[in-house]
Amino acid sequence: MIKITFPDGTQKPFIEGVSVMDVAKSISEGLARNILSAKFNEKVVESSTKLSTDGAIIFFTWNEKEGKDAFWHSSAHVLAEAIMSLYPKTKLTIGPSIENGFYYDADFGEIKLSENNLQELESKFIELARKKSEFKMRTSLKSDALDYYNKIDNEFKVEIINDLNDDDITFCDHSDFTDLCRGGHIPHTGLIKAVKLTSLAGAYWRGDETRKQLTRIYGISFPKQKQLTEYLELVEEAKKRDHRKIGKKLELFTFSQKVGAGLPLWLPKGAALRDRLENFLKKAQKKAGYQQVISPHIGNKDLYMTSGHFQKYGSDSFQPIETPADGESFLLKPMNCPHHCEIFKAKPWSYKELPVRYAEFGTVYRYEQSGELHGLTRVRSFTQDDAHIFCKPDQLNQEFKNVIELVLYVFNSLGFNNYEAQVSLRDKNKPEKYIGSDENWELAESAIIEATKEKNLNYKVEYGEAAFYGPKLDFMVKDALGRKWQLGTIQVDYNLPERFELTYKGGDNELYRPVMIHRAPFGSLERFVAILLEHSEGNLPIWLAPEQAIVLCVSEKHEKYAKKVLNYLENNEIRASLDSRNETIGKKIRQAELNKIPFMLIIGEKEFKSNSVSIRKHKQGDVGSKSTEDLISMIKDEVDSSISNFNV
Ligand SMILES: [Zn+2]
Ligand SMILES: [Zn+2]
Repeated sequence: MIKITFPDGTQKPFIEGVSVMDVAKSISEGLARNILSAKFNEKVVESSTKLSTDGAIIFFTWNEKEGKDAFWHSSAHVLAEAIMSLYPKTKLTIGPSIENGFYYDADFGEIKLSENNLQELESKFIELARKKSEFKMRTSLKSDALDYYNKIDNEFKVEIINDLNDDDITFCDHSDFTDLCRGGHIPHTGLIKAVKLTSLAGAYWRGDETRKQLTRIYGISFPKQKQLTEYLELVEEAKKRDHRKIGKKLELFTFSQKVGAGLPLWLPKGAALRDRLENFLKKAQKKAGYQQVISPHIGNKDLYMTSGHFQKYGSDSFQPIETPADGESFLLKPMNCPHHCEIFKAKPWSYKELPVRYAEFGTVYRYEQSGELHGLTRVRSFTQDDAHIFCKPDQLNQEFKNVIELVLYVFNSLGFNNYEAQVSLRDKNKPEKYIGSDENWELAESAIIEATKEKNLNYKVEYGEAAFYGPKLDFMVKDALGRKWQLGTIQVDYNLPERFELTYKGGDNELYRPVMIHRAPFGSLERFVAILLEHSEGNLPIWLAPEQAIVLCVSEKHEKYAKKVLNYLENNEIRASLDSRNETIGKKIRQAELNKIPFMLIIGEKEFKSNSVSIRKHKQGDVGSKSTEDLISMIKDEVDSSISNFNV
């Protein structure tokens, strides 16, 4: 008999050689129907794997990432089978699962696939999936595997096998199809009920542009047809909300190849939007006891040697800038923390003066590969809403709670009401992975957990996800489309205070090390603006909107009065403009709706005579007419109620 331990800690005996699927069935038929993948003693196993030792088992369904991975990995096999049955001369290469689906790279020889061929492949895919073929792993000698691929003239697979150090090579068979594979499949193909081959692309073999160009087919599959339908609707909606499109339409930002890829240029309206976000946070931070500091965009290489950033990331970053005369090296700032440590060191500290909280909207530069760049979400220069808190260990809990409060204030003020928190702790079985004393870790971890509980956050704990220098709390927000984005993060750090030899004098006149907290509620302004635009579809809260009102005249006759109204709005600090184009009022309204301007103020003969304006609200339509005084208080009330104050 062998003993199997389940995730809840319970144990059950089984006959040696029991299959993973049989263990699942012993729990319930329902689970057995739904499992897609499993891990035994932390290793991925097949549902048909026979177990012969004691161990811990975890099952995964569609609800877990591991389940989806297995589902999409298996789908890539079925796609490969479909390709081979329609285009038998194709040479298969690799086909992994990805974040949303899977792809397969193949050499189709003379055949050039077009989008039109995808539908045919989809039909073949479903026809093959319906056979409910089991996935079966098989081991082969390296020499036999090489023979097989040499015989079918697939130099790509030969190259892969030659690069493997293993003597035994594993294959996965299903139906009468076989492919090189390391394992991790769903029980059978019949679980795949719906597939969409989403696009075609060119891809170089091994990502190397000097090598053969292959055809990549992307796809996504689901256990239910309904899930595919919902997914496709979501994709359509996401396209409409693409922040690159909205940002262009609202004239917020642009990119220039001449300036450089991944280096955003903020246009006047975008710059003003950023200003408002910065001021909003600065105001709250001031109340919370932060002080603004400013540090330069570059720093001596030695600074990053001390912080350890250069050793860790130096070779993958922008390379040092050399001075012409002094032989010094400088780096573009990848992080603000080392600078802030040096600011802390500018004077001696007493325990009575802590905590110290330094905040900076610090622009940092990180080298991202050009293929990875995407709008404002992946850029090479971005501004963090950064701050570092230096405190005594016994102040951690309170400081942490204060930061949580600030982060939630930011989310709620900007319409992100759906968020989850993840507490990332160390893996106690791997002490070599972390620095700092056990005692400090205990203190920091309990400080974070306590603070998170006291703030009633919906959170989950992940062991082994802490940074090597300390535990952290990450916030994920769900946007209007249900997509998850990682935003703010709060991290505890024992490493930098040590490396920079930061100290404060205790009540006993001895020197002590402060603990450092890194935190950024927005994360970066670039990424945050992108997420905000997609979440709100460009309909920003009125306190933040680039334009709050627009004056529209029915005819040129009333332009003088319209200008007076505009002036009046501007004098009352309402962001407004005037559309004086020689267009019909209908066209002007449509344009203003497209530009998502909250208030449209229409002026015709009647309004001119009665010294009033006719008001139309974005997406809502006519709301009647008002005198200019009443109009101002109406807009101001709406602006005020769209933002709450941060209270400490
Ligand atoms: Zn496989
Ligand atoms: Zn930092």
